[in-house]
Amino acid sequence: MTVSAFVGLGANLADPQDQVLRALDELGRLPDTALTSRSSLWHSAPIGYADQPAFVNAVARLETGLSADGLLDELQALESRHGRERSFKDAPRTLDLDLLLYGEEQRKTERLTLPHPRMHERAFVLKPLLEIAPDITIPGRGPAVACLAKHEDQPCERFIFRG
Ligand code: AMP
Repeated sequence: MTVSAFVGLGANLADPQDQVLRALDELGRLPDTALTSRSSLWHSAPIGYADQPAFVNAVARLETGLSADGLLDELQALESRHGRERSFKDAPRTLDLDLLLYGEEQRKTERLTLPHPRMHERAFVLKPLLEIAPDITIPGRGPAVACLAKHEDQPCERFIFRG
């Protein structure tokens, strides 16, 4: 049995566009996992710690036989391979991978919150997500399109269109 999962990608250091494009390919090579859809690349202004370069963002849809924890392990290993260091909250990063949705699962454990706890309030997640899943509902939060309507003011522009 496989589950549909959505992963948010973000980067703002060390050729961020290349980091995100490579990571999309690498997601498709995770064990027991297929990449079934990828968004365009989007540019967004940093949130929180503002004195840093703009981000490149994208969202990928996976079909995976991994458990949610197993998938998070793989995402964290992939971040490490891209040289990610956890220095301080909202710091610049070579690659950030968030597990946004894992099927309909809702859970809050020390290590993993599903859906991702901030995805419903971030245009840089919602815009690329809606591009590949226009009708999606975020469990516990409602339709993603309604979530985005409350955050349209956040700067986030598509700059490389999906083929
Ligand atoms: P960040 O530094 O923003 O990438 O946050 C990573 C931390 O958030 C790690 O300690 C994860 O265990 C935790 N975390 C909780 N829920 C999630 C999620 N849905 N996706 C990714 N990381 C998560």
